[in-house]
Amino acid sequence: MQVQQNYPLKKYNTFGIEVYAKYFSKFSSIEELEALIINYKLQTTNHKLLILGGGSNILFTKNYDGIVLKNAISGIHTVHEDEDHIYVKAGAGTNWHQFVLHCIKNNFAGAENLALIPGNIGASPMQNIGAYGVEIKDIFHSLEALHLMDKRVVNFTLNDCEFGYRDSVFKKKYKDQFAILNVTFRLNKKPQYNISYGAIKEELENLQPMELNIQAISQAVINIRSNKLPDPNIIGNAGSFFKNPEISEHEFHELKRIYPHIVGYTLNNANVKLAAGWLIEQCGWKGFRRRDAGCHADQALVLVNYGNAPGKEIYDLSNEIKQTVKDKFDVELEREVNII
Ligand SMILES: Cc1cc2nc3c(=O)[nH]c(=O)nc-3n(C[C@H](O)[C@H](O)[C@H](O)COP(=O)(O)OP(=O)(O)OC[C@H]3O[C@@H](n4cnc5c(N)ncnc54)[C@H](O)[C@@H]3O)c2cc1C
Repeated sequence: MQVQQNYPLKKYNTFGIEVYAKYFSKFSSIEELEALIINYKLQTTNHKLLILGGGSNILFTKNYDGIVLKNAISGIHTVHEDEDHIYVKAGAGTNWHQFVLHCIKNNFAGAENLALIPGNIGASPMQNIGAYGVEIKDIFHSLEALHLMDKRVVNFTLNDCEFGYRDSVFKKKYKDQFAILNVTFRLNKKPQYNISYGAIKEELENLQPMELNIQAISQAVINIRSNKLPDPNIIGNAGSFFKNPEISEHEFHELKRIYPHIVGYTLNNANVKLAAGWLIEQCGWKGFRRRDAGCHADQALVLVNYGNAPGKEIYDLSNEIKQTVKDKFDVELEREVNII
Protein backbone atom coordinates (compact mmCIF):
# COMPACT_ATOMS: atom_id res chain seq x y z
CA MET A 1 0.00 0.00 0.00
CA GLN A 2 2.52 2.45 -1.21
CA VAL A 3 1.63 6.10 -1.79
CA GLN A 4 3.29 7.29 -4.99
CA GLN A 5 3.88 10.88 -5.99
CA ASN A 6 3.33 12.65 -9.30
CA TYR A 7 1.67 9.51 -10.65
CA PRO A 8 0.57 9.26 -14.34
CA LEU A 9 -3.18 8.65 -14.77
CA LYS A 10 -3.31 8.11 -18.56
CA LYS A 11 -3.81 4.34 -18.10
CA TYR A 12 -6.46 4.96 -15.45
CA ASN A 13 -9.02 6.91 -17.50
CA THR A 14 -10.72 5.65 -20.66
CA PHE A 15 -10.42 9.08 -22.29
CA GLY A 16 -6.65 8.44 -22.14
CA ILE A 17 -5.96 11.96 -20.85
CA GLU A 18 -2.38 12.52 -19.81
CA VAL A 19 -2.57 14.01 -16.32
CA TYR A 20 -0.77 13.34 -13.04
CA ALA A 21 -1.99 12.78 -9.50
CA LYS A 22 -0.03 14.51 -6.76
CA TYR A 23 -0.42 11.28 -4.74
CA PHE A 24 -1.73 7.88 -5.81
CA SER A 25 -2.36 4.57 -4.08
CA LYS A 26 -4.52 1.45 -4.34
CA PHE A 27 -6.51 -0.18 -1.54
CA SER A 28 -7.87 -3.72 -1.37
CA SER A 29 -9.75 -3.59 1.94
CA ILE A 30 -11.54 -1.15 4.21
CA GLU A 31 -8.62 -1.34 6.66
CA GLU A 32 -6.19 -0.25 3.94
CA LEU A 33 -8.50 2.58 2.92
CA GLU A 34 -8.82 3.81 6.50
CA ALA A 35 -5.05 3.69 6.99
CA LEU A 36 -4.51 5.67 3.78
CA ILE A 37 -6.99 8.35 4.81
CA ILE A 38 -5.39 8.73 8.23
CA ASN A 39 -1.80 8.84 6.94
CA TYR A 40 -2.69 11.09 4.04
CA LYS A 41 -4.27 13.68 6.31
CA LEU A 42 -1.03 13.77 8.27
CA GLN A 43 1.00 14.30 5.11
CA THR A 44 -0.94 16.92 3.22
CA THR A 45 -2.74 20.13 3.80
CA ASN A 46 -5.45 20.36 1.17
CA HIS A 47 -7.23 17.00 1.82
CA LYS A 48 -8.44 16.58 -1.77
CA LEU A 49 -9.30 12.94 -2.38
CA LEU A 50 -10.71 11.06 -5.37
CA ILE A 51 -11.92 7.46 -5.27
CA LEU A 52 -11.25 5.95 -8.68
CA GLY A 53 -12.85 2.90 -10.26
CA GLY A 54 -12.23 2.04 -13.92
CA GLY A 55 -12.00 5.71 -14.94
CA SER A 56 -14.69 5.24 -17.61
CA ASN A 57 -16.96 8.07 -16.50
CA ILE A 58 -14.38 10.74 -15.78
CA LEU A 59 -12.81 13.60 -17.70
CA PHE A 60 -9.63 14.95 -16.10
CA THR A 61 -9.18 18.59 -17.15
CA LYS A 62 -5.97 19.14 -15.18
CA ASN A 63 -3.47 17.41 -12.92
CA TYR A 64 -5.08 16.17 -9.71
CA ASP A 65 -3.81 18.21 -6.79
CA GLY A 66 -4.63 15.65 -4.10
CA ILE A 67 -4.67 11.90 -3.59
CA VAL A 68 -6.26 9.46 -6.04
CA LEU A 69 -7.23 6.19 -4.37
CA LYS A 70 -7.84 3.32 -6.78
CA ASN A 71 -10.41 0.92 -5.41
CA ALA A 72 -9.27 -2.71 -5.70
CA ILE A 73 -11.65 -4.42 -3.26
CA SER A 74 -12.50 -7.59 -5.16
CA GLY A 75 -14.69 -10.67 -4.75
CA ILE A 76 -18.15 -11.93 -5.70
CA HIS A 77 -20.14 -14.02 -3.16
CA THR A 78 -23.70 -15.29 -2.86
CA VAL A 79 -24.85 -14.08 0.55
CA HIS A 80 -28.48 -15.21 0.72
CA GLU A 81 -31.19 -16.88 -1.30
CA ASP A 82 -34.93 -17.35 -1.04
CA GLU A 83 -37.54 -18.94 -3.25
CA ASP A 84 -37.39 -16.26 -5.95
CA HIS A 85 -34.07 -14.46 -5.53
CA ILE A 86 -30.32 -14.81 -5.12
CA TYR A 87 -28.46 -12.06 -3.26
CA VAL A 88 -24.94 -11.54 -4.58
CA LYS A 89 -22.39 -9.21 -2.95
CA ALA A 90 -19.53 -7.85 -5.06
CA GLY A 91 -16.49 -5.85 -3.95
CA ALA A 92 -16.42 -2.30 -5.30
CA GLY A 93 -13.22 -2.94 -7.28
CA THR A 94 -14.72 -5.87 -9.22
CA ASN A 95 -15.06 -5.24 -12.94
CA TRP A 96 -18.74 -4.73 -13.81
CA HIS A 97 -18.76 -7.01 -16.85
CA GLN A 98 -17.03 -9.81 -14.89
CA PHE A 99 -19.91 -9.58 -12.42
CA VAL A 100 -22.46 -9.79 -15.27
CA LEU A 101 -20.64 -12.85 -16.67
CA HIS A 102 -20.75 -14.46 -13.21
CA CYS A 103 -24.53 -13.94 -13.16
CA ILE A 104 -24.95 -15.32 -16.69
CA LYS A 105 -22.83 -18.40 -15.92
CA ASN A 106 -24.87 -19.16 -12.78
CA ASN A 107 -28.26 -18.39 -14.32
CA PHE A 108 -28.92 -15.41 -12.04
CA ALA A 109 -31.21 -13.20 -14.09
CA GLY A 110 -31.52 -9.42 -14.21
CA ALA A 111 -28.08 -8.11 -15.21
CA GLU A 112 -27.98 -9.47 -18.79
CA ASN A 113 -29.06 -6.21 -20.49
CA LEU A 114 -26.19 -4.43 -18.72
CA ALA A 115 -23.44 -6.58 -20.24
CA LEU A 116 -20.23 -4.91 -21.41
CA ILE A 117 -20.71 -1.59 -19.61
CA PRO A 118 -17.15 -0.52 -18.71
CA GLY A 119 -16.09 0.26 -15.16
CA ASN A 120 -16.33 -1.28 -11.74
CA ILE A 121 -19.05 -2.32 -9.29
CA GLY A 122 -18.36 0.61 -6.92
CA ALA A 123 -19.29 3.25 -9.48
CA SER A 124 -22.41 1.45 -10.74
CA PRO A 125 -24.73 3.00 -8.13
CA MET A 126 -23.15 6.45 -8.52
CA GLN A 127 -25.08 7.16 -11.68
CA ASN A 128 -27.49 4.18 -11.59
CA ILE A 129 -25.92 2.73 -14.74
CA GLY A 130 -28.39 1.66 -17.37
CA ALA A 131 -28.75 0.29 -20.86
CA TYR A 132 -31.39 -1.33 -23.05
CA GLY A 133 -34.33 -0.71 -20.74
CA VAL A 134 -32.66 -1.83 -17.47
CA GLU A 135 -30.96 0.17 -14.72
CA ILE A 136 -29.07 -1.17 -11.72
CA LYS A 137 -31.85 0.06 -9.45
CA ASP A 138 -33.89 -2.87 -10.89
CA ILE A 139 -31.49 -5.40 -9.35
CA PHE A 140 -30.02 -3.35 -6.51
CA HIS A 141 -30.48 -4.53 -2.92
CA SER A 142 -28.04 -2.53 -0.75
CA LEU A 143 -24.51 -1.22 -0.47
CA GLU A 144 -21.94 -0.47 2.19
CA ALA A 145 -19.92 2.73 2.07
CA LEU A 146 -17.30 4.33 4.27
CA HIS A 147 -17.93 7.92 5.28
CA LEU A 148 -14.61 9.54 4.44
CA MET A 149 -14.64 12.12 7.24
CA ASP A 150 -15.86 10.24 10.32
CA LYS A 151 -14.99 6.75 9.00
CA ARG A 152 -18.37 5.18 9.78
CA VAL A 153 -19.53 2.29 7.55
CA VAL A 154 -23.06 3.09 6.44
CA ASN A 155 -25.55 0.68 4.87
CA PHE A 156 -27.66 2.14 2.05
CA THR A 157 -30.91 0.46 0.95
CA LEU A 158 -32.63 1.00 -2.40
CA ASN A 159 -34.68 3.92 -1.03
CA ASP A 160 -31.66 5.54 0.60
CA CYS A 161 -29.88 5.75 -2.77
CA GLU A 162 -32.61 7.92 -4.38
CA PHE A 163 -31.84 6.51 -7.81
CA GLY A 164 -32.94 8.49 -10.84
CA TYR A 165 -31.95 8.60 -14.50
CA ARG A 166 -28.11 8.45 -14.35
CA ASP A 167 -28.38 9.85 -10.85
CA SER A 168 -28.22 8.95 -7.17
CA VAL A 169 -27.74 10.45 -3.77
CA PHE A 170 -23.96 10.02 -4.27
CA LYS A 171 -23.98 12.62 -7.05
CA LYS A 172 -26.08 15.06 -5.02
CA LYS A 173 -26.28 15.50 -1.26
CA TYR A 174 -23.54 12.94 -0.50
CA LYS A 175 -21.23 13.97 -3.33
CA ASP A 176 -17.58 13.12 -2.54
CA GLN A 177 -18.51 12.03 1.00
CA PHE A 178 -18.43 8.23 0.73
CA ALA A 179 -16.27 5.44 -0.64
CA ILE A 180 -18.53 2.62 -1.77
CA LEU A 181 -17.03 -0.65 -0.49
CA ASN A 182 -19.40 -3.30 -1.86
CA VAL A 183 -22.81 -3.67 -3.48
CA THR A 184 -25.37 -6.45 -2.97
CA PHE A 185 -27.62 -7.24 -5.92
CA ARG A 186 -30.95 -9.10 -5.84
CA LEU A 187 -31.08 -11.36 -8.89
CA ASN A 188 -33.98 -13.44 -10.11
CA LYS A 189 -34.28 -17.19 -10.15
CA LYS A 190 -37.34 -16.82 -12.40
CA PRO A 191 -36.21 -14.52 -15.22
CA GLN A 192 -38.37 -11.80 -16.68
CA TYR A 193 -36.78 -10.94 -20.01
CA ASN A 194 -36.62 -7.33 -21.11
CA ILE A 195 -36.28 -7.29 -24.88
CA SER A 196 -38.44 -4.24 -25.53
CA TYR A 197 -35.56 -2.44 -27.27
CA GLY A 198 -35.82 -2.86 -31.04
CA ALA A 199 -32.08 -3.41 -31.42
CA ILE A 200 -32.19 -6.41 -29.05
CA LYS A 201 -35.11 -7.96 -30.91
CA GLU A 202 -33.31 -7.53 -34.25
CA GLU A 203 -30.06 -8.99 -32.93
CA LEU A 204 -31.90 -11.98 -31.45
CA GLU A 205 -33.43 -12.59 -34.86
CA ASN A 206 -29.93 -12.62 -36.35
CA LEU A 207 -28.59 -14.92 -33.63
CA GLN A 208 -31.52 -17.35 -33.80
CA PRO A 209 -30.86 -18.84 -30.33
CA MET A 210 -32.34 -22.30 -29.57
CA GLU A 211 -34.30 -20.65 -26.75
CA LEU A 212 -34.73 -17.19 -25.27
CA ASN A 213 -32.61 -17.06 -22.12
CA ILE A 214 -30.22 -14.69 -20.32
CA GLN A 215 -27.24 -16.09 -22.22
CA ALA A 216 -28.88 -15.20 -25.57
CA ILE A 217 -29.90 -11.72 -24.40
CA SER A 218 -26.45 -10.88 -23.02
CA GLN A 219 -24.85 -12.10 -26.26
CA ALA A 220 -27.22 -9.89 -28.27
CA VAL A 221 -26.30 -6.90 -26.06
CA ILE A 222 -22.58 -7.65 -26.38
CA ASN A 223 -22.87 -7.83 -30.18
CA ILE A 224 -24.83 -4.57 -30.42
CA ARG A 225 -22.47 -2.69 -28.10
CA SER A 226 -19.33 -4.01 -29.82
CA ASN A 227 -20.61 -2.79 -33.19
CA LYS A 228 -22.06 0.50 -32.03
CA LEU A 229 -19.77 1.99 -29.40
CA PRO A 230 -16.17 3.10 -29.91
CA ASP A 231 -13.72 0.90 -27.99
CA PRO A 232 -11.78 3.10 -25.51
CA ASN A 233 -8.70 0.93 -26.14
CA ILE A 234 -8.71 2.25 -29.71
CA ILE A 235 -10.16 5.73 -29.31
CA GLY A 236 -10.38 7.50 -25.97
CA ASN A 237 -13.94 8.17 -24.74
CA ALA A 238 -16.27 7.82 -21.75
CA GLY A 239 -19.43 6.67 -23.54
CA SER A 240 -22.36 9.11 -23.65
CA PHE A 241 -21.01 12.50 -22.66
CA PHE A 242 -24.42 14.06 -22.01
CA LYS A 243 -27.69 12.83 -20.52
CA ASN A 244 -30.80 12.70 -22.65
CA PRO A 245 -32.69 15.86 -21.59
CA GLU A 246 -36.25 15.80 -20.30
CA ILE A 247 -38.76 18.47 -21.36
CA SER A 248 -42.52 18.95 -20.92
CA GLU A 249 -45.01 17.56 -23.40
CA HIS A 250 -45.96 21.13 -24.37
CA GLU A 251 -42.34 22.06 -25.10
CA PHE A 252 -41.98 18.88 -27.12
CA HIS A 253 -45.00 19.72 -29.29
CA GLU A 254 -43.62 23.20 -29.90
CA LEU A 255 -40.27 21.74 -31.02
CA LYS A 256 -42.00 19.08 -33.13
CA ARG A 257 -43.83 21.79 -35.06
CA ILE A 258 -40.50 23.27 -36.11
CA TYR A 259 -38.47 20.03 -36.29
CA PRO A 260 -40.88 17.25 -37.35
CA HIS A 261 -38.12 14.62 -37.12
CA ILE A 262 -37.13 15.37 -33.55
CA VAL A 263 -36.61 12.17 -31.55
CA GLY A 264 -38.38 11.87 -28.17
CA TYR A 265 -39.89 9.22 -25.89
CA THR A 266 -42.85 9.89 -23.61
CA LEU A 267 -42.11 9.07 -19.97
CA ASN A 268 -44.48 7.86 -17.24
CA ASN A 269 -44.68 11.40 -15.82
CA ALA A 270 -45.89 12.59 -19.28
CA ASN A 271 -42.64 14.51 -19.88
CA VAL A 272 -40.64 13.69 -22.98
CA LYS A 273 -37.05 12.51 -23.05
CA LEU A 274 -35.17 13.81 -26.09
CA ALA A 275 -32.33 11.97 -27.78
CA ALA A 276 -29.34 14.21 -26.97
CA GLY A 277 -27.38 12.61 -29.83
CA TRP A 278 -29.98 13.79 -32.35
CA LEU A 279 -29.89 17.37 -31.01
CA ILE A 280 -26.08 17.43 -31.20
CA GLU A 281 -26.08 15.98 -34.69
CA GLN A 282 -28.56 18.64 -35.88
CA CYS A 283 -26.12 21.31 -34.67
CA GLY A 284 -23.52 19.88 -37.03
CA TRP A 285 -21.13 18.37 -34.49
CA LYS A 286 -21.17 14.72 -35.57
CA GLY A 287 -17.68 13.80 -36.82
CA PHE A 288 -16.29 17.20 -35.77
CA ARG A 289 -12.57 17.26 -34.92
CA ARG A 290 -10.36 20.06 -33.63
CA ARG A 291 -6.81 18.88 -33.13
CA ASP A 292 -7.31 15.66 -31.10
CA ALA A 293 -10.64 16.52 -29.49
CA GLY A 294 -13.79 15.55 -31.32
CA CYS A 295 -17.29 14.23 -31.59
CA HIS A 296 -17.49 10.63 -32.81
CA ALA A 297 -18.31 10.15 -36.49
CA ASP A 298 -21.11 7.61 -35.82
CA GLN A 299 -22.23 8.53 -32.29
CA ALA A 300 -22.67 12.27 -31.82
CA LEU A 301 -23.26 11.75 -28.10
CA VAL A 302 -19.75 10.37 -27.61
CA LEU A 303 -16.92 12.89 -27.33
CA VAL A 304 -13.54 11.43 -28.17
CA ASN A 305 -9.81 11.87 -27.72
CA TYR A 306 -8.15 11.02 -31.03
CA GLY A 307 -4.72 10.86 -29.41
CA ASN A 308 -3.27 13.50 -27.16
CA ALA A 309 -6.13 15.92 -26.53
CA PRO A 310 -5.84 17.75 -23.21
CA GLY A 311 -8.96 17.16 -21.10
CA LYS A 312 -9.58 20.92 -21.09
CA GLU A 313 -10.03 20.90 -24.90
CA ILE A 314 -12.66 18.15 -24.64
CA TYR A 315 -14.36 20.06 -21.84
CA ASP A 316 -14.33 23.29 -23.88
CA LEU A 317 -15.79 21.42 -26.84
CA SER A 318 -18.57 20.10 -24.59
CA ASN A 319 -19.36 23.70 -23.60
CA GLU A 320 -19.59 24.75 -27.25
CA ILE A 321 -21.91 21.82 -27.96
CA LYS A 322 -24.11 22.71 -24.97
CA GLN A 323 -24.33 26.32 -26.16
CA THR A 324 -25.29 25.50 -29.75
CA VAL A 325 -27.99 23.07 -28.58
CA LYS A 326 -29.31 25.74 -26.23
CA ASP A 327 -29.29 28.38 -29.00
CA LYS A 328 -31.01 26.15 -31.58
CA PHE A 329 -33.53 24.20 -29.46
CA ASP A 330 -33.61 26.12 -26.16
CA VAL A 331 -32.77 22.82 -24.44
CA GLU A 332 -30.16 22.56 -21.69
CA LEU A 333 -27.82 19.57 -21.95
CA GLU A 334 -26.42 18.14 -18.72
CA ARG A 335 -23.11 16.28 -18.65
CA GLU A 336 -23.19 12.61 -17.68
CA VAL A 337 -19.40 12.39 -17.38
CA ASN A 338 -17.78 13.58 -14.13
CA ILE A 339 -15.50 16.56 -14.74
CA ILE A 340 -12.44 16.53 -12.49
C1 LIG B 1 -17.59 2.89 -24.19
C2 LIG B 1 -18.40 3.25 -22.96
C3 LIG B 1 -19.73 2.88 -22.88
C4 LIG B 1 -20.48 3.20 -21.75
N1 LIG B 1 -21.79 2.81 -21.71
C5 LIG B 1 -22.53 3.08 -20.62
C6 LIG B 1 -23.89 2.64 -20.55
O1 LIG B 1 -24.41 1.98 -21.44
N2 LIG B 1 -24.61 2.98 -19.44
C7 LIG B 1 -24.07 3.68 -18.41
O2 LIG B 1 -24.79 3.94 -17.44
N3 LIG B 1 -22.79 4.10 -18.45
C8 LIG B 1 -22.01 3.82 -19.51
N4 LIG B 1 -20.71 4.23 -19.56
C9 LIG B 1 -20.15 5.02 -18.45
C10 LIG B 1 -19.38 4.17 -17.39
O3 LIG B 1 -19.08 2.91 -17.90
C11 LIG B 1 -20.19 3.98 -16.11
O4 LIG B 1 -20.57 5.22 -15.57
C12 LIG B 1 -19.41 3.22 -15.04
O5 LIG B 1 -20.24 2.88 -13.96
C13 LIG B 1 -18.20 3.98 -14.52
O6 LIG B 1 -17.46 3.09 -13.70
P1 LIG B 1 -15.97 3.37 -13.33
O7 LIG B 1 -15.57 2.35 -12.33
O8 LIG B 1 -15.14 3.46 -14.56
O9 LIG B 1 -16.10 4.79 -12.62
P2 LIG B 1 -15.02 5.98 -12.59
O10 LIG B 1 -15.01 6.66 -13.91
O11 LIG B 1 -13.73 5.51 -12.04
O12 LIG B 1 -15.71 6.95 -11.54
C14 LIG B 1 -16.94 7.61 -11.83
C15 LIG B 1 -17.35 8.43 -10.61
O13 LIG B 1 -17.65 7.57 -9.53
C16 LIG B 1 -16.79 7.80 -8.41
N5 LIG B 1 -16.47 6.50 -7.85
C17 LIG B 1 -15.96 5.43 -8.52
N6 LIG B 1 -15.87 4.37 -7.68
C18 LIG B 1 -16.31 4.78 -6.48
C19 LIG B 1 -16.45 4.16 -5.20
N7 LIG B 1 -16.12 2.89 -4.99
N8 LIG B 1 -16.94 4.90 -4.17
C20 LIG B 1 -17.28 6.19 -4.36
N9 LIG B 1 -17.16 6.83 -5.53
C21 LIG B 1 -16.70 6.14 -6.59
C22 LIG B 1 -15.58 8.53 -8.98
O14 LIG B 1 -14.95 9.34 -7.98
C23 LIG B 1 -16.22 9.34 -10.09
O15 LIG B 1 -16.83 10.50 -9.57
C24 LIG B 1 -19.89 3.91 -20.68
C25 LIG B 1 -18.55 4.27 -20.75
C26 LIG B 1 -17.80 3.93 -21.88
C27 LIG B 1 -16.34 4.29 -21.93
